Order: sequence, then C-alpha cells, then structure tokens
Amino acid sequence: MRNSIVEFRNVSFRYGAEEPWVLKDCSFSIHENEAVAIIGHNGSGKSTIAKLMNGLLFPQEGEIIINGQRVNEETVWDVRKDVGMVFQNPDNQFVGTTVQDDVAFGMENRGVPRDEMVKRIEDTLKAVGMQQYLMTEPHKLSGGQKQRVAIASVLAIFPSVLILDEATAMLDPKGRKEIMNTVTAVQEQRHLSLITITHDLQEVVQAERVIVMNEGKIWDEATPRGIFAKKEELQSIGLDVPFVAILSEELRKKGVPIANEALN
Ligand code: ADP
Repeated sequence: MRNSIVEFRNVSFRYGAEEPWVLKDCSFSIHENEAVAIIGHNGSGKSTIAKLMNGLLFPQEGEIIINGQRVNEETVWDVRKDVGMVFQNPDNQFVGTTVQDDVAFGMENRGVPRDEMVKRIEDTLKAVGMQQYLMTEPHKLSGGQKQRVAIASVLAIFPSVLILDEATAMLDPKGRKEIMNTVTAVQEQRHLSLITITHDLQEVVQAERVIVMNEGKIWDEATPRGIFAKKEELQSIGLDVPFVAILSEELRKKGVPIANEALN
C-alpha cells in the first residue's frame, strides 16, 4: 500500500459563519505517486478542496494532513512547498518578465541558491518541453505554452503533490491533450501525486481513481471505468459521460479489445 500524502478527515467548510456549508464531512486520501481526478459540476466544492489542500483556506471542522503534517497557520509554509497548484487562467500566474524569471520567482522566495536555481530552471523547462523559450516574454506564448511554464514554475519547488485546478479549461482539445501528456510524463518521472480538478469527464480518463463531488459531499470514488458505468446517475448530477467511454463499453461487450488502458 502506498503512503498517503493528502488526507481529508471529516472536513467541513463554509466561507463565513452565516454562509451555507460548501463542504460537509468529506474524507478521502490521495497516495504517493497516484493520479486522481476530482470531478463535479460547477459549485460542487472542487476549488474549495484545492484551496484547503494548499492552506489558502482552513476547515472549521475536521482536519487535513499533508505529508504527515496537520495543516494549520504554523505548518502552512511547509505545506505550500509540498503542494503545487496550477490554475485555469495562465495570465494570472505570471510574475516574471521572461520565462526564466518566472520559473525563478518561487525559488527566490524560498532562498534556493543561485547555482541550484539555474539548474532547476533548465531541468523543469526541459521536462515540460519549453527549454528553448528561456528568454521569451510570457505574453508572447500560446495558452498551452503558458500553462507549461506555470507547471515548470511549480515543479521547480519540488512539490510532492501537483494540483491542476481546471488548468486546461481554456485550451483547445489539442492543447489539453498535450498538457495532460506532459503532466503524466512528469508525474512518472518525479513520482508525484497528481490531482486533476475538472468538470469535464473527458479529463478523468488518465486518472487511476476518480472522486466525484456533488453539493459539497463525496458522491462516489472509483476507477474511471467504474464511474463511467453510472451514466444515468452521473447525468442526474450534471455530468456527461464522454462518447469515447460509451463507445469503449459497447465494444468491450462485443469482445473487441480496447487500446486505452484507463478504459479497461
Ligand atoms: P467548484 O470548484 O466545484 O465550482 P467551488 O469550491 O468554487 O466549487 O464553490 C463551492 C461553493 O462555494 C459555491 O456555492 C460557491 O458559490 C461558494 N464559494 C466559492 N468561493 C466563495 C467565496 N469566496 N465566498 C463565498 N462563497 C464562495
């Protein structure tokens, strides 16, 4: 059994004492080197979960353990080093005037020595296929390239967990696929835990496990195939099973071998 890196124990959260609960009694674990997708329709609580994992918010009830440490005001800086986040809009994530400066920024804040920084910039940009853009101004990059740089900036800190919060939502299907392939390769190379947060069931195919959220609660947890099998129930909570999954199931029933491992 792999070690658990992220643990939610009976977590409940609301944005204010007068506000409704947006998460209610959520418990789940995410393990070392595991790829998990968290899916749910808009407003089901996914982004709140991401912010709780990264110590941007703290729960009113229950506890969150990251790499053996309970997340609180004292541990939050360690936790943020361990949990890297990439958000939907790449333009909101740039701080440097060149790609190189941008990747350096997070490391500067953490006091990484100069020589080590140069090495990490090179290594992480190479890992995401952006090494030739070192001196490029970020605004000259495509949406997909910007997200690669954002991923490199996070990887340079050596997190144990990488969270993609709707990080491919603004990209076209080709850009999405390229980013997911890059991230999968990096995950294997770095033994990262990868959490993909999405409202699009298409994105869960590459995950080992899927956590489905509905109205602030965990609705189900299973393999992509296990989740896709509940087509009608998913539709009732606003999620559409992708055509490729329906087709694969039909072919399987007819005894045709399926090439995509995740759908097997
Ligand atoms: P998702 O990521 O699944 O779309 P969110 O976690 O963003 O869901 O939101 C869950 C619920 O919390 C929604 O009802 C949303 O309106 C509410 N919410 C999110 N952010 C805030 C905030 N800053 N203040 C008050 N309510 C919020």
